[in-house]
Amino acid sequence: MKIAVIGTGYVGLVTAAGLAELGHRVIGADKDVEKIARISSGIIPIYEPGLNELLAAHHRKGRLSFSADLDAVAQEADVIFVCVGTPQHDDGSADMSQIEEVSRLIADNLNRYKLVVEKSTVPVKTSHWIKRTIGLYKKTDTPFDIASNPEFLREGSAVSDFLNPDRIIVGVESDKARDILCGIYGRFKDRLVVTNIDTAELIKHASNSFLALKISYINLISNICEKTDANVEQVAEGMGLDPRIGGRFLKAGIGYGGSCFPKDIKALVKIGEDLGVEMSLLKEADRINFDRVRVVMEKVRKALWILKDKQIAVLGLAFKPETDDIREAPSINVIRELLREGARLRLYDPQAADNMKLLFPPEPGRVDYFTSPYAAAEGANSVLLLTEWEELAGLDLVKLKETLANPIVIDGRNIFSPEALKKLGFEYYSIGRK
Ligand code: NAD
Repeated sequence: MKIAVIGTGYVGLVTAAGLAELGHRVIGADKDVEKIARISSGIIPIYEPGLNELLAAHHRKGRLSFSADLDAVAQEADVIFVCVGTPQHDDGSADMSQIEEVSRLIADNLNRYKLVVEKSTVPVKTSHWIKRTIGLYKKTDTPFDIASNPEFLREGSAVSDFLNPDRIIVGVESDKARDILCGIYGRFKDRLVVTNIDTAELIKHASNSFLALKISYINLISNICEKTDANVEQVAEGMGLDPRIGGRFLKAGIGYGGSCFPKDIKALVKIGEDLGVEMSLLKEADRINFDRVRVVMEKVRKALWILKDKQIAVLGLAFKPETDDIREAPSINVIRELLREGARLRLYDPQAADNMKLLFPPEPGRVDYFTSPYAAAEGANSVLLLTEWEELAGLDLVKLKETLANPIVIDGRNIFSPEALKKLGFEYYSIGRK
């Protein structure tokens, strides 16, 4: 079977490489001609551990190729994984125009039976729209099926997540579609969960919104910790030891970001409201997340009082470690606020600086980028840590202190131990603990 993966962003590239690793012949396709040219010549537009190697290995073996000729790819494929973007409209709903474009592409090129697999995160009932669109625009009576196979990879460990999945959700409405997808994922047959399509679509939004809710919950608890002598790290540990709760995603900090949680929780709110379901639980979780910027800014003001002309070494810009992705990163709103108050920023991130430069171009003396955390800290009035990169957690704190003008650390991710920092003579601010 020939598999096409349409959309070669974070999800599409990992899916293409992962399916090739599972032994399939895969063509990755994208409407971005330049991107395809770069990928074909071995230049991978994103940073994702292990991805370059996997893509190169399967390219060499001839199992994986890339093309911008979308019509040819759609005609050649038996199974089409749709991995295009589903960004957010102003009202929070998902913008489905890229999905519609691909549906029409498939309709135009329906030369034999095809299984169309939604991998992008889409609102429940999207399959009905794809089916209707292909049905309306197809020029032949050729049959096709739709299936939902939402992607759960996490940026930063996406390749490993694809190849070691907790579960693979397969939403189908025909035996043929089920057999094809179960065959493609044969290696993981013990982890396949087969449902109807609406259920599969909803599992994805429900999962991401629940994780976002968990983060906002612990951040809410951290606000109580800050007004008392409770320590949020210990509260989270004590809660997480209960297997009904679990310790993951109970990390207090500056809030969630990225291209998924913020948009998916808003999309689910909109989906529910459109269906007449009261969604205030998720709205509140989203509001708590938005409020994290205020919480961090209060700490910065508490440490530095007047921010105008203060030099702040902002360490960590990506929305999470091990990625260069800054989409919806909490750092963006924090940087915006700091600049609004006149601070001078010295920025460092192991991977995401180039992406951040597109949003906040260098302006000597106001927005400067550095290639090491110590260079960023040179002469600064404080460090503000915004992403929990391992490299930053392992900083040589004695060297950092010597480098700074004032030994002040504001830790938005609780990566340092308050005791250790205080012992070294730092003034230390973190989240939900003293
Ligand atoms: P992305 O923006 O990085 O990539 C989307 C790609 O699709 C782009 O390269 C774009 O050029 C291409 N594209 C758009 N319209 C096209 C068309 N008509 N034909 C061909 N190519 C087209 O997006 P992403 O981060 O890979 O996310 C894709 C989907 O997967 C989204 O629905 C997202 O919510 C979901 N998802 C993302 C992640 C993640 O961590 N990034 C995880 C799970 C699910």
